[in-house]
Amino acid sequence: MTAISVVWILLISSMLLAGLTILLRRYVNMSASAPRKQAEEALIESEKRFRTLIEAAPVGVVLTRNARIVYANHTFLEMFGETMESIIGTPTIEKVAPESHKEFTKNIQRQAQGEKVRYEIFGLRKDGASFPIQVVSTRITGFSEELTALGFVQDISERRQAEEILRTQNARLNTLHTITLDLLNHRKVEDMLNAILTRACELLDSPFGLIGLIEGNELVAHASTDLNASLLGLRVALTETHLSNLTIQTGQPQAIQDYSQWEKRLKLYDPFKLKSVANIPIVINENIVGVIVLGRIEKDKPFTSDEIEVMKSFAEMAALAMDNARLFDSAQHELAEKIRAEEELQRANKKLKLQLDKIKSLQIELREQAVRDPLTGLYNRRYLNEILLRELARAEREKSVISFVMIDLDHFKNVNDSFGHATGDKILQKLAAQLLSHTRSGDIVCRYGGEEFLVILPNVSAEISLQIAEKLRGLFETPGALFENVEINTTISCGIAEYPSDGLTAEEIISNADKALYAAKRMGRNRVIVWSEAKNEVHE
Ligand code: GH3
Ligand code: MG
Ligand code: MG
Repeated sequence: MTAISVVWILLISSMLLAGLTILLRRYVNMSASAPRKQAEEALIESEKRFRTLIEAAPVGVVLTRNARIVYANHTFLEMFGETMESIIGTPTIEKVAPESHKEFTKNIQRQAQGEKVRYEIFGLRKDGASFPIQVVSTRITGFSEELTALGFVQDISERRQAEEILRTQNARLNTLHTITLDLLNHRKVEDMLNAILTRACELLDSPFGLIGLIEGNELVAHASTDLNASLLGLRVALTETHLSNLTIQTGQPQAIQDYSQWEKRLKLYDPFKLKSVANIPIVINENIVGVIVLGRIEKDKPFTSDEIEVMKSFAEMAALAMDNARLFDSAQHELAEKIRAEEELQRANKKLKLQLDKIKSLQIELREQAVRDPLTGLYNRRYLNEILLRELARAEREKSVISFVMIDLDHFKNVNDSFGHATGDKILQKLAAQLLSHTRSGDIVCRYGGEEFLVILPNVSAEISLQIAEKLRGLFETPGALFENVEINTTISCGIAEYPSDGLTAEEIISNADKALYAAKRMGRNRVIVWSEAKNEVHE
């Protein structure tokens, strides 16, 4: 009830007590007790004012006696589509719609007990239409034995409508809220679009529904209701002048009242006998990516602008869902791409590592080849020069000694000449193998020249190396040794010099070891000579 109506009711209620006596006298046929003429006129004047007031009231005022109407004001008559003549004497219950009889009777009984009652029922207009009314009524006592009642009646259709709108809007908000939550749960865009469409159709009372997305020059149905599930996957060219294309071209919602009669309709929709059809664009980042299509089959149920607004919310949801799914997809894609790239990198790294290992071993091999003599496998002279610097520096640092044993085969030229160069090579290999197997790992065995070998013995004095060289000489000297069934007698001569006593540089010591070797040759070969002992003889 509006504030004005409440004020009016309060006003009328207070006035009533003052004016009711007059009014009742007339309608309840109370006889005045022969008042004086002046008093009579005053009363008539009061009655007039009171009537004017009640007639102008924006609420229906009705006076009943024994449940029949004895007076109704203008608002009441207008509300029920009656005239004063047609309504006087009518039983009050006739003005109540059939569905409210029970409620009315109950309230009338309460009112008869003297209670002031307030209730909402349906009134029945003369044209047969029923409409919601609010009634406030009370019994009036003290004027007659008969049951007299005063009622204030208000048409509450507008309020009911407003309440209905509020309820609908509330339901829509709830649905949108649910969809928003759905958006968080669904990852697959098709699932999400289906969920959105189902709810849109429920809320907007549309059995027909489609969500079409633009793919190239076509609009493709990605979600549908059960009714038109046969249209799922449908492709429609965007060059045609159908409603969806119009929606996409204008970027504006479009609605058609009698779709099945519309000349530009999609014939594919004909089996559904659609009446009202509405199309709403789906927009992502200002680009139209598709449409939501809703359709109703009932006649005279066009989509209202309010409903189009609701559809827009659904279209926004669909856009959000698709954008979310797109972001999710691209994140997934990026992740997969990253994983793939990482795997690729790992594979490449592995390959590279293998290649590096191969190169490294090749380098080692090459280096080995560079420092080794191919015939005997011993270190060559190049390596010797390299390693000697290191060994001498260490010996100097550690104040230790190094023995140099220079070895040369005796009369080797003769061996070659007699048995051939190849046999000579085999003898060289045999000596190399013996030298290797009878020295320690820290010793360095090197092929110094054609048939000359140098053995470096770190931390070994000339005295000890003499014993070692003697042992080697003895090993090699094997009288009657057979080489491919040929008896070849070979011997070696050795010359020994020691660092630091026989020289401080490699050249000096080697030169002295060489000199000792020549001394051994001179002395008849197959022997070991130590330079410190031989040098005096040489000088002598
Ligand atoms: P000596 O006792 O004085 O050392 O006499 P020798 O014949 O051994 O003379 P020398 O030490 O000068 O040896 C040189 C010979 O060594 C010449 C060559 O035939 C032989 N020779 C050098 N290098 C090789 C080689 O790689 N293979 C073979 N089979 N013989 C070689
Ligand atoms: Mg020689
Ligand atoms: Mg020789």
